[in-house]
Amino acid sequence: MKYALVTGGSRGIGAAIAKELARNGYPVLINFVSREDAALEVKREIEAEGGKAELLKFNVADPKEIDAALDGWIASHPEDYIAVLVNNAGIRRDGLLMWMEDADWYDVINIHLNGFFHVTRKLITPMAKKKWGRVVSVASLSGIKGMPGQTNYSAAKGGIIAATKALALEVAKRKVTVNAVAPGFVETDMTKELDQNTLRETIPAGRFGTAEEVADLVAFLSSDKAAYITGQVIEINGGLNT
Ligand code: NAP
Repeated sequence: MKYALVTGGSRGIGAAIAKELARNGYPVLINFVSREDAALEVKREIEAEGGKAELLKFNVADPKEIDAALDGWIASHPEDYIAVLVNNAGIRRDGLLMWMEDADWYDVINIHLNGFFHVTRKLITPMAKKKWGRVVSVASLSGIKGMPGQTNYSAAKGGIIAATKALALEVAKRKVTVNAVAPGFVETDMTKELDQNTLRETIPAGRFGTAEEVADLVAFLSSDKAAYITGQVIEINGGLNT
């Protein structure tokens, strides 16, 4: 059976992606790091709609935790494989570079970019062997154009975008596609302290996006219909970058 793994599937964009992938028929592994209550609620909602979901706790910044969780899952599911990987887990630690603490730089790079590396490296081989796979990473407009106060976050997301393009070329012949989505402002816990009234004036669509809108795009890229799209970064930002 083909499973889907959503890192950071307990809240926000990841929770919406987990629910949409389940609606598309995938049993979903909901990864989280601290909010087991939120992950359980996503599982409950998926099951209420007739879908299947399991929780898989690990810190995407910790290679040992990733190995333990994924090796354990693989050993207990000999007939199955993770065919869809959504690299979504993330944090923000904003601040001007001149005053940025080491931890704010390294935590953001470790969670986003090194998390992409460790989780994707583990799961790309089974996808290539089975000759079907989808890797979709949630990047950001910040990784395309750069945002002041986000050198750490822009570097991490820009790194994911470049890695996406390179990895897509490595596995294209194996029918594995590798893409990224780059949202602008999306209404989640991550953006709840931002001043929406001021910011929405800068967005041509006049509003923040919803997690469900991003989830629909990720679900399409994860489907059979998107087999000829690879190495791409699809922007979803209400016209913010045109
Ligand atoms: P969110 O609501 O704050 O949710 C973050 C999710 O990531 C939670 O499920 C959290 O798990 C998980 N997470 C955080 N650190 C983790 C770690 N070390 N290991 C495993 N999971 C971890 O954020 P969001 O807005 O949905 O963001 C999701 C992704 O979209 C991020 O990559 C973010 O950079 C990107 N993005 C967001 C926006 C936006 O405007 N919101 C725009 C562009 C890109 P717990 O629940 O266990 O804490």
